[in-house]
Amino acid sequence: MKTPLRVVFLGTGAGSLTDRMGLAILLMVGQEYLLVDAGYGANVQLVRAGIDLCRVKVILVTHHHIDHCGGLPSIFHDLKAHGCLEPITIYVPPEAEEPVKTLIRLFGPRIPPPHMIEVVEAGQRVEVGAYKASFMEAVHPLQTLSPEISVAGLRILYSSDTAPYPEFKSRAKGADLCIHEATLPDHMAELSSRFGHSTVSQAIKTCKDSRRTALVHLTTLSESQLASLATGENIIVPQDLDELLVSSPRSSF
Ligand SMILES: [Zn+2]
Repeated sequence: MKTPLRVVFLGTGAGSLTDRMGLAILLMVGQEYLLVDAGYGANVQLVRAGIDLCRVKVILVTHHHIDHCGGLPSIFHDLKAHGCLEPITIYVPPEAEEPVKTLIRLFGPRIPPPHMIEVVEAGQRVEVGAYKASFMEAVHPLQTLSPEISVAGLRILYSSDTAPYPEFKSRAKGADLCIHEATLPDHMAELSSRFGHSTVSQAIKTCKDSRRTALVHLTTLSESQLASLATGENIIVPQDLDELLVSSPRSSF
């Protein structure tokens, strides 16, 4: 049986209006880790989850809003404190390159470990160890990528922040896990669209043809609707630090 994918929802909150930490999702297959987004509080959440920080060597930042990359300075500080000196690679969309560089330099140029910032664009594919990632352009006021990640025979989609768009919905078909933002409740659809976000029902509809949906980027506003949502095997609303094991349909777990 193939090693299942372990998904740790370190932070599941939006930029405000929530007591959840900023977005940070750790994918783990065996000893190979991929950190997708690093919102505020991500360093603390990594410690709380009992993660060996030195194994975090690849970080994918979908865009440069604080709830998606505000944790980077603290992560670098903690990597140094834990004596993790192996190089870190950070993938960013073009518009995030300078802000992310600035964030990492913020507390001094001497912060190890060494790091490389790789710019990736929509349509591009990258391969990092066991992970293959490709990217779609999300619909958000700031340049934002929605990654599609293949690992261990599984296909994982992550919307990041976006209004619904057809390409993502199409790629979600048959995905093993569709992680989608659900920032606002349905009655705020107009506001949601204006700010490049999705409502709860839009998120569920977008991911409906995937094997499983995880709703993230939550606010107290969307949670008021989610409280009455029937969740279960196919739709989950993770709390910070919740974990999920994903394996192929032919495997048991
Ligand atoms: Zn956000």
